[in-house]
Amino acid sequence: MLNFPEQNLRTPGPTPIPDDIVEAMSRPMINHRGPEFLELLTRVTGQLKQVFMTANDLYILTASGTGSLEASIVNTLSPGDKVLSATAGAFGDRFTDIAKAYGAEVEHLQFEWGSIVDPEAIRKSLSQDPQIKAVLVTHNETSTGITHPLADVASVVKGEFDKLLLVDAVSSLACVPLPVDGWNCDLVGTASQKGFMIPPGLAFISISEAGHEAQASATMPRFYFDLAEAQSYLERGQTPWTPAISALYGLSLALDKLLAEGLENVYERHTNIAQITRDGVKNLGLELLAQDDAYASDTVTAIKIPENIDGAKLVNMVRTEENVVLAGGQGKLSGKIFRIGHMGAVTPADIEEVMEAIKIVLPKVGFSAP
Ligand code: PMP
Repeated sequence: MLNFPEQNLRTPGPTPIPDDIVEAMSRPMINHRGPEFLELLTRVTGQLKQVFMTANDLYILTASGTGSLEASIVNTLSPGDKVLSATAGAFGDRFTDIAKAYGAEVEHLQFEWGSIVDPEAIRKSLSQDPQIKAVLVTHNETSTGITHPLADVASVVKGEFDKLLLVDAVSSLACVPLPVDGWNCDLVGTASQKGFMIPPGLAFISISEAGHEAQASATMPRFYFDLAEAQSYLERGQTPWTPAISALYGLSLALDKLLAEGLENVYERHTNIAQITRDGVKNLGLELLAQDDAYASDTVTAIKIPENIDGAKLVNMVRTEENVVLAGGQGKLSGKIFRIGHMGAVTPADIEEVMEAIKIVLPKVGFSAP
């Protein structure tokens, strides 16, 4: 048996799982073509719609978050379709790459990593090219710790131009407000291992009426992620392929807990913990990547590595000496930032422990606060 020590896991996913959810996931297997599974799937699908704040169809996929992003593209688009992808980070680039891989003609509207995507620039691109069919956007860019202004983006994309809006909500849903119907988002994908407090392995995706209309003529190849199959099986209380039943047990309890707490309280809890994190970082004499607290993420904080400091060494020592697991930077921010995840089941005490760990290690890597 593996025997890892218990850690303060502060990566932006997977996130720690509460003990009662761990226990719920140890229940015996059931037949996924039987009445118990029908009851489970029907229940969690209804609860997920409440968390998505949507009356749209919603499907549970056995996949990581990337599966939901791929599903949103291949079910609504055809090779050669023009797509606008507004990005400012590694996950926006991944969404872009999926669209390209399936033959979409992508206009890639790129913003500086650490800033927000600009709705005005999206407006300009959409008015210059009426052929654009869909817009891709990442709600919360985990690689930079920035929450993009999705409500404003949606009001341009849907309200002014009536294009399809495909949203990556992997590190935002169930943590920060995302009223799918209120903002009129067509396809919204997310995953289990972040705000939902359960292990990796499940992805969730909602699809609007406009999404279904696009689906009717979309010709990108698809099989495992064919949402028409998911719909037809859901009507029988099943999934097309063998589902991750244990993760669904966990999901059922996690949704009970989130809904009992109340979504507004869940959002407030994330806002508070993020504020505690940002304050703590600033108190240590460090600088945030986000230049404005207004768009600094409530689920992950990105911190600039001070000049002449070895960031990899810092993250490594915090783990080996203090048992706190942080994340480094991705892509072009590799070596330039480190990140603290604070989504899902996290308490102020967990964050205090993180700050204490960083405080102890900083002088050891040669940093003295200004
Ligand atoms: N998008 C965002 C915003 C993410 O944070 C992640 C995971 N960190 C992904 C996409 C990819 O999700 P997964 O690793 O579950 O496929």
